[in-house]
Amino acid sequence: MGSFVKGYLQASAEEYLGEKIHMGLLGKRIDHITASATVGIADKVSWLKQQGHEVIDFSAGRAFEPTPGYVSRAASEALLAGDTHQTMAQGTPQFRKACADKLLRENSLEADWETEIIATMGVKQALLLGLLGILNTGDEVLVEDPCFVSYPPLVSIAGGRVRRIPLRRENRFRWTKDQLMDSITDRTRVILINSPQNPTGTVHTRTDLEIIAEVARTYDLMVITDEVYEQVTWDGRQHICIATLPGMRKRTITCMGLTKTFSMGGWRIGFIFAPAEIMEGLVKLQAHLLTCTNSFSQAGAAKALSEPPRKEVKELWREWEARCEYMTSGLNAIPGLSCTKPEGGFYAWVDISRTGFTSLQLADKLLEEEKVAVVPGSAFGPNGEGYLRINCVRDRKELQEGLERIRRALTETVNQRL
Ligand code: PMP
Repeated sequence: MGSFVKGYLQASAEEYLGEKIHMGLLGKRIDHITASATVGIADKVSWLKQQGHEVIDFSAGRAFEPTPGYVSRAASEALLAGDTHQTMAQGTPQFRKACADKLLRENSLEADWETEIIATMGVKQALLLGLLGILNTGDEVLVEDPCFVSYPPLVSIAGGRVRRIPLRRENRFRWTKDQLMDSITDRTRVILINSPQNPTGTVHTRTDLEIIAEVARTYDLMVITDEVYEQVTWDGRQHICIATLPGMRKRTITCMGLTKTFSMGGWRIGFIFAPAEIMEGLVKLQAHLLTCTNSFSQAGAAKALSEPPRKEVKELWREWEARCEYMTSGLNAIPGLSCTKPEGGFYAWVDISRTGFTSLQLADKLLEEEKVAVVPGSAFGPNGEGYLRINCVRDRKELQEGLERIRRALTETVNQRL
């Protein structure tokens, strides 16, 4: 049947397999961009399912549950009431007011909804808008390595250059001040951060953020912060917005969304909170790129953000924490694998170095032999090699069955090697 995971990587072979892509008809801007590994694996999984295979999908970054009913109802009601037209480029007043209410209520950030908030088609688009808004060609962006698969392509689409700074296990997957200082050049313009972090599960503490803020202030850098998982932090940890730190509000572009925490991946809805001066440019860009974000998605999301998360949502997040605990302890018990419960977000970042496989080999083996889809760590950057990313918030039955299949795939081979 050939190599499943390698198959999806063929379009992005340059980075992972050392082959050059030939795209004669394509422009140079996207010639060196890698395909999204996570979206690619999800497509492969759909294809396998269509062929009748029972695939356990731990690759996609989404929970098992659908969007909470009260949020979906608000969007349906908006649609049926005729809310089917374009909105202002920056989003409806109702949505932006709800974002401002949420920022004040949950993040201690006072935002002017009229000038400092813009509705986006999810956090990916928020990131692209932010990068397009502030980068000049050749500007450098400091990114975590490993990081979310779309950061390097988004930076490069916006004309910037990525400088990867490793997140080392011995530093609990956090940057040190020295690492950051050593990475600054006269082209550095932005520090791009993500907390809770995908894929390592790190939640930035105030001390972590103070280091980043100090470097940003000292070298006059902007910070773009991806806070898409901000409401799901575990063991009592609190998410802190870097924009609340002294002197940071004016140099921070905060990107938030509902895709993960409210299971709204298909709605394509998120928002940016940034200084008005930047926002003016972003609104211009948005008007040309999209006209606006979907009207009815904004209506549903406004409902979700205008009030504190309901009991059913909080219960869902507690259940996700329990599943993260269940999954990581189950994975840890499998020969050759080692991981800890994430500090936040919903991925297990599994050290596979004792198995003797590369991350691509093992991801391939699991999909081919056991029909379990996971993401090879190398998809998140060179420093992700030696790990797999596994989604912990699928249905309990799937988690159990998936653990069983991974154990089956590894026990014999690894025991022979250990
Ligand atoms: N940022 C991170 C860290 C993510 O993991 C993801 C999705 N996997 C996104 C952004 C994309 O978010 P959205 O679906 O809202 O565009």
